[in-house]
Amino acid sequence: MRLKTRLFMSFLLIVILPILLAFVLYFLIASGRVNGNEETSPLYFTNTIDTLINDTDPEVQELKQWSKAFPDRFLKTDILKEINSSLSSANSFLVVKQGTRVVFDGAPDGMHPRYSRLPVYGKLSGSDVMVVKLENQSAMLREVDFGDYKDRYHGQAFVITPTGTVIPGAGKILITYVLWMALILLITAFVIVTLLYNSIIRKVRRMQEATENIRNGNLDFTLKVKGKDEISELAGSIERMKNHLRADAMQKLETEDAQRKFLSNITHDLKTPLTSVIGYSEGLIDGIAPTPDKQMKYLTIIHNKASEMNDLLNELSVFTKIDTDSIPYDFSRVNARGFFDEFAEENEVEFDSQDAIFLYQCDLPDGCEIMIDTSQIKRVLHNLVSNAVKYRRDGIRLKVMLRVSDAGEFIQAEIADNGRGISQDDLPHIFERLFRADKARNTQIKGSGIGLSIVKKIISDHGGQVWATSIEGTGSKFYFLLKKCSDKEEPDEQDSDN
Ligand code: ADP
Repeated sequence: MRLKTRLFMSFLLIVILPILLAFVLYFLIASGRVNGNEETSPLYFTNTIDTLINDTDPEVQELKQWSKAFPDRFLKTDILKEINSSLSSANSFLVVKQGTRVVFDGAPDGMHPRYSRLPVYGKLSGSDVMVVKLENQSAMLREVDFGDYKDRYHGQAFVITPTGTVIPGAGKILITYVLWMALILLITAFVIVTLLYNSIIRKVRRMQEATENIRNGNLDFTLKVKGKDEISELAGSIERMKNHLRADAMQKLETEDAQRKFLSNITHDLKTPLTSVIGYSEGLIDGIAPTPDKQMKYLTIIHNKASEMNDLLNELSVFTKIDTDSIPYDFSRVNARGFFDEFAEENEVEFDSQDAIFLYQCDLPDGCEIMIDTSQIKRVLHNLVSNAVKYRRDGIRLKVMLRVSDAGEFIQAEIADNGRGISQDDLPHIFERLFRADKARNTQIKGSGIGLSIVKKIISDHGGQVWATSIEGTGSKFYFLLKKCSDKEEPDEQDSDN
């Protein structure tokens, strides 16, 4: 349930529940079930006279019956005492007059009426009510007449209800009400606070613990909060943030690890040719190469090893630039066919000299132009071709094929080799920085694992894409796309700031 709805419901509960319970309480008190006394009914507050009349009505009706059928009973003290005692349970009493003489006075002490002030015979009749003064308070009086002048006497029976008794009853009700209402409010508040505590505070506490953990760098926990309210959503966000931070931390660790490995590989890869350079140059200095032929051989080795180190350092420098996103591009509009023809020519000669085959096929129309940094795209081609050479299969004549074709808005270049191929497990990772398929290291092939990540960066900075397919033990195919120039495009427009 949403927090808004829950607060609204709590509000309704706080307001409506006590009101409902107050009503129930009212009727319970009214029916005398709460304190077992109907005389303390709340009706005292609303309709005091009617209530008092109702309270004494049964006795008054009985007296009326006597007046018609058994007037003698008014003169029998025993029977009058009985009626008086049943009236006393309604806080009332009976006074009977015969003529001017009071024959029965059931008033409790201190409540006797002033007889002279009692109404005269025949003045008050039926259901009329009158207020009279008692010794120390007022009272409500009802009258039932009996006998008449023809019968030589006239009698009056007065049912008197001191009104002072109403007030203590009302006070009792007030106290009962206040106590019950206080109890109802306490229970309602307790229930609602407990519900809110359970639904909100506990979740907030758990989130607080979670954020403390994050602050202390402990990301190995799961924050699970059930529900669909805003607090649970916030908890979900904290959990996602933690997962994100953890993924970042893992990535950082992996990168740091890869960089450590990279440094140690580079050191190793630089050290090997350097040792050769030092060895052969010392040999020359020490004169262990007496003939010019031998000296030339040593110098050639020194030159090759120095070039190897130079290539490696060049790659390192590009790698650093990739890291800081600052490869300096110099875009120009070039004829695609011309560009690839030139690259193919250089390679065909080199491959021939190494007893390898370089095949080239270009299906592009003559006027097709691309906007590229020629030196960087040459670096891409060079990386791909030199990988094909590096990862050739022993005992099999290397065959590399460069095929360039039209792909709508793009031109597609494909470099296929018949080398050792890449396992399906490694294939998705080869464009990652510092990734080297295990086999490459195992077989002592030199490399840093950054060549293809440089390729990917350069191609994507040209707005293209690069991907590869491979069958282990058969060969690999690398593809990349470069966007063609639209007719209106000017070289300056696409120059990169990189
Ligand atoms: P390096 O060659 O320096 O290891 P690269 O980024 O150029 O790094 O290549 C990453 C990995 O991809 C290599 O270690 C190698 O396992 C694999 N690879 C790349 N090109 C080829 C290829 N033509 N044939 C087989 N494996 C290749």
